[in-house]
Amino acid sequence: MPSAKFLKFTNSLPKCSSSMYIQLHTHHIPLNHHLHHMHAVDSPHCPIITNVNETIHHYLFDCLQYQR
Ligand SMILES: [Zn+2]
Repeated sequence: MPSAKFLKFTNSLPKCSSSMYIQLHTHHIPLNHHLHHMHAVDSPHCPIITNVNETIHHYLFDCLQYQR
C-alpha cells in the first residue's frame, strides 16, 4: 500500500501530474526504453537522437525534443 505521506502528496496534485509522477517513479512510462522492454516497439532508442536509449533520465535532462 502507498504510504499516507505519498497519498497526501499525490492527492494534492492535478490528476495528470499525479499520473506522471507515479509513472516516473515506477518506471512504467511510455518511453521507448520501457516500451522496448515490453516488446511494444522495435528499438529502445530516442527518435530524435540516434543510438541513445530513451530513458527517464534522457527524457528529463538530455532530450532535445522535451527541452522546453
Ligand atoms: Zn530524446
